[in-house]
Parts: sequence; C-alpha cells; structure tokens
Amino acid sequence: MSNIEEIKKRRTFAIISHPDAGKTTLTEKLLLFGGAIQTAGAVKSNKIKKTATSDFMEIEKQRGISVATSVMTFEYRDLLINILDTPGHKDFAEDTYRTLTAVDSVILVIDCVKGVEEQTERLMEVCRMRNTPVIVFVNKLDREGRNPFELLDELETKLGIRVRPLTWPINMGADFKGVYSLFEEKLYFFKINKTKIESNVVEINLGDDKLEELLGLKDAIQLTEDVELVEGVYDEFSNEAYAKGELAPVFFGSAINNFGIKELLDTFCEISPLPQPRATDVREVEPTESKFSGFIFKIHANLDPRHRDRIAFLRICSGKFERRTFYHHVRLNKDVRFASPFTFMASDKSVMDEGFPGDVVGLYDTGNFKIGDTLTEGENLNFAGIPSFSPEIFKELINLDPMKSKQLEKGIQQLTDEGVAQLFNLDLGNRKVVGTVGELQFDVIQYRLEHEYGAKCRWVPMNITRACWLTADEKPAMDEFIRLKGNQIAFDKDRNPVFFAESDWMIRMNRENNPKIHFHFTSEFK
Ligand code: GDP
Repeated sequence: MSNIEEIKKRRTFAIISHPDAGKTTLTEKLLLFGGAIQTAGAVKSNKIKKTATSDFMEIEKQRGISVATSVMTFEYRDLLINILDTPGHKDFAEDTYRTLTAVDSVILVIDCVKGVEEQTERLMEVCRMRNTPVIVFVNKLDREGRNPFELLDELETKLGIRVRPLTWPINMGADFKGVYSLFEEKLYFFKINKTKIESNVVEINLGDDKLEELLGLKDAIQLTEDVELVEGVYDEFSNEAYAKGELAPVFFGSAINNFGIKELLDTFCEISPLPQPRATDVREVEPTESKFSGFIFKIHANLDPRHRDRIAFLRICSGKFERRTFYHHVRLNKDVRFASPFTFMASDKSVMDEGFPGDVVGLYDTGNFKIGDTLTEGENLNFAGIPSFSPEIFKELINLDPMKSKQLEKGIQQLTDEGVAQLFNLDLGNRKVVGTVGELQFDVIQYRLEHEYGAKCRWVPMNITRACWLTADEKPAMDEFIRLKGNQIAFDKDRNPVFFAESDWMIRMNRENNPKIHFHFTSEFK
C-alpha cells in the first residue's frame, strides 16, 4: 500500500468528558464494534476514585492501567482507528491537554442529566485553541435528563461552538423510546440490550401515518414538532464547518445500553478528518511528505521496577516510521534509533516494524525525551502546539536529605520532563518551585522521588495562584521588569521568565502598569 492509502485509512481521536459522563463505557462499546475486545467490562476505567492522597497503591495501579489503555487501536469499515485515552481526573488535566495535541478530532461525551460540566468547558477550550473538530454524544438518555433544546443551548453558550443535532430523542428516562435519525430518516427503537449491537430500526418519513402507530399520538406529534423546530433553528450540517471546528454534530444515546453508538461510529467514519498537517516553528508539515517526522506528546514511567526505562509516545506526522532506522532528535541534535518500538493494537504491546501518519508508537526511553520533542529525517524543525498551561497550585521543593541532592535533582528533572508537573526556578537562593493543577500530583512526585530515585523531600505551599509567561517589546524593558519584581519572577525549564501572581487582580494591575511587558497564560506565544 502506498503512504497515501495508509494515511487515508487512519483516524486518530480522543474521547473527552467530565468524569462519570460515560467516556470509559463509550470507549468500550466502540472497541466492541471494532472487534478489538470480545466482552463488556474489558476496558478498565483509569479513574482515580479516591482522593485519599495516602493511597499510593491506588495511584500506582491506576498509572499501570492507564499505560495499557493509553492508546487503543481497532479496525472498522476498512479504517484503522486510534483512540487516545485521556485521564478524566482533574489533577491529571495537563496530561489530557497534551494528548489533545496528538489527535485530529474528538468525541465529547455529555451526561444528559448534568449537561456541560466544569471539565467539559476546560477541555473544549483546549480543542478550540487548535480548531479541533468535535462530535458531541449526549449520553444516559435512559435517565430523566434535561430538555434536549436546553442542552443544545447550553452547549452553544458554554462551549462556544455551534451545534447541529443529527439524531433526536423520543422522550428520556423511563419513557425513552429511541432516537430519530434526521439524516437517514430512520427510527431507532430503544431496548435494554447490553450484549447485542443492533437496535430495532424502521425507515420512516415523519409525515407518514405509521409514525402514530409506532409511537402513539402524543409522541408522534412531539417528535414532528421537535424536528420542525430543529430544522428551523439549526443550520444544515456542513462538513466543512465541522472540519474547521466551528460546528459540532450532536448524537443522543445511551452508552451502557449500546444505544446510538453505531450511528455515532458510522458518522464518525464518514466525516472525521484523516491525519492532518501540523504546524512547526519553520513551516507546516503535510502527512503526505515522504520524509518521516513526529513528536512526543506523552511520557510514562515504567511500572516494572526491573526496567527503569520510560515509555515515550510518538505521534507520527509525516512519512514512514521504520524500526531500527536512525532519526534526528532535534533538541539533542543527535541521531537515535529504536530496536523495539511498539504499537497498541488489540491492547497488546506488539513490535511495530513500520508506522504511518496518525499512528502512535511506543518508544522505550532511558531519559532522552521530553514532552514536545521532535524526531525527523534530518530537518531542523520543532512541532508547535504543545503549550504548558499555568499551574494552579505551587509548592517549594525542600530537600530532606542533603546526601541525596543529586538524586533529587535528577528525579525532579525527569519527572517534570514526563509532564507530571512543571518545574520553575527562583534564581534568588536557587529555590525550586513545582506547579501542578492538582494536589494529588505532589503526593505522586514525593512518592516517586523516594521510590524511584531514593530522594526524600517535603513541600512548602506558596501563596501563588497563577504563573504567566512573559515577553517584552524590547529586552531592556524585560530586564528592568525582572529586576524590579525580584522573587515574583521565576524561570521555567527552558529559562523563559514567568511572573508568579498571588491573584488575577495582581496580574491585571501589573499589566496596566507595564504596557511593554506581555503576560501569557500558556507557554506558547510565538
Ligand atoms: P467516565 O468517567 O466518563 O469514564 O464514565 P464511565 O464510563 O465510567 O461511566 C460512569 C458511570 O455512568 C458508570 O457507572 C456507568 O455504568 C454509567 N453509565 C454510562 N453510560 C450510561 C448510560 O447510558 N446510562 C446510564 N444510566 N448510566 C450510564
């Protein structure tokens, strides 16, 4: 097969949701369609149920599970579909944001009872930054949910994206009868059916008398009115608007009952984008280019204590990746090759001899990779779009064992390379500050520093709520600002200056008083 044919076969996406909306259940049902798993219950949730921070075994176990389900590949209708898993737990949101840079589209799951939740909004913000195409699945229709029009309004206002329902529910909860597919003109009847995949389907035009026979007078009238309203209020579905991330098609269903999933998957296969071109600091890279390129979007520590190496996840962006071939590691300016890169086919790790754009390759790493690193066939370019976001919780790292400062240094460098948290340096007194989006991370780091690097530490909370990356129109202005602000200025791992702020108010004030200095909430501002 030619490269182009290989590219056309691939779809790489993520399912995103607020915890508990049904991401794991939906993933599992999609894998069942693809035959990648045989039974329900095979996909483990990577949720960290307990926030009990002392429960490290739980954390370790969860980390183990999330390696196994980090990427799930299955075949369906001649396509090779890669689902990139995203942790739902808020404390691991950074990991999720970065994974979103490696996909070409997303499916967003919404709980019809709860509507748009906090994590949903944040995740969609990240999708909007890159104009990622979104399909929405409104889940749990077997429960008494909110009015569908109200839900659609909320999606539009809170998520800042236009929506277009492609199916429409007939009641919800105990009276839920099924959905009407607006584009196929078919009624899909709902039956509690956890094992079989088909539901009962009738092809019908809404003007047909049979509709009343099938649904009863009240529901037939309601459906007809609803659909009229939908057609009147919402624009026609446009593939182009979807591809630009401006319009999200919406499906209704019930993941646990396997209802509405096939329509979702079939539509996904029809409309979802193939591996897309990607921006770099030099030029845009097309997937069809003959030379290989790719970037690391995730790094995972190996759970097996006998193998201390880590697993780096590489998204292929162009050309063909081959085993045992030298590639250029741009940041380190050296050539590297891989003896046993692996795929995630059928949840087994199997050796990958060659890979194509859209594929994710697992690479064993002994410390060569940082998140965002680029591999090429020689060209010096760096993939863009992997920003760091401002952490929300900041603590100073205190070394408890002066004999182990080397280990602590190495450990904290490596853990922050993995993207577990962000490391900042306060030059005054050479203090190290770690920033995260969740408390859990501090426990994970402390535990791992001790168990993997033999270093002991404690944390001192800091009165900071935001880190803003700084740029300036001219260097003297920056130097002056840095001098004036003293210990409010820290440096990130790449020695970019950041401003530590106690509150949003303080950022506003400093902005107003220093017009030559620009404050950024993500590290990507080139
Ligand atoms: P995640 O946190 O988004 O991965 O959510 P899960 O897939 O783990 O689902 C959260 C809970 O919702 C579980 O108890 C599921 O069994 C349940 N659930 C998932 N889909 C449905 C559905 O269609 N209807 C109902 N009633 N419950 C569902």
